[in-house]
Amino acid sequence: MKVLDLRCANGHGFEGWFASDEDFMGQNGRGLIECPLCADRVISRMPSAPRLNLSGARAPEASPPALPAAPTAPQAPPRAADLQAAWLQSVRALMANTEDVGENFAEEARRIHYGEKPARGIRGQATPEERAALQEDGIETLSIPVPAALKGPVQ
Ligand SMILES: [Zn+2]
Repeated sequence: MKVLDLRCANGHGFEGWFASDEDFMGQNGRGLIECPLCADRVISRMPSAPRLNLSGARAPEASPPALPAAPTAPQAPPRAADLQAAWLQSVRALMANTEDVGENFAEEARRIHYGEKPARGIRGQATPEERAALQEDGIETLSIPVPAALKGPVQ
């Protein structure tokens, strides 16, 4: 078996196990390999030299698979850097238009849902259990990883 370092068109790095280089090329040629993060099938193989320095060149693992608000040109696949910029912009907009309720997120979301508080966009922290409970009550939440650069007070 060979372990190959692979990367999708969106810049997600992952490992693939193959019987041989030919096995990889055959599977990839038939579109059988897909990114575990975003299901992209445009997979390229990265050089696996251990001295290769990838710091800074790698997109964050948390990049979302799709941004509904970001129009993409149909003729050319978007570059990872463009996607990342669009993502940062959406997160910024989201943070500017929501009220930070911190740890009280689940409670606050419930109050808004039941009309005890005026409807508005809120953001904050919730545990997976809290999110699951909210979903059971029919309250939609969106879980997004916020890049470290955007944490802290919003301008
Ligand atoms: Zn991917």
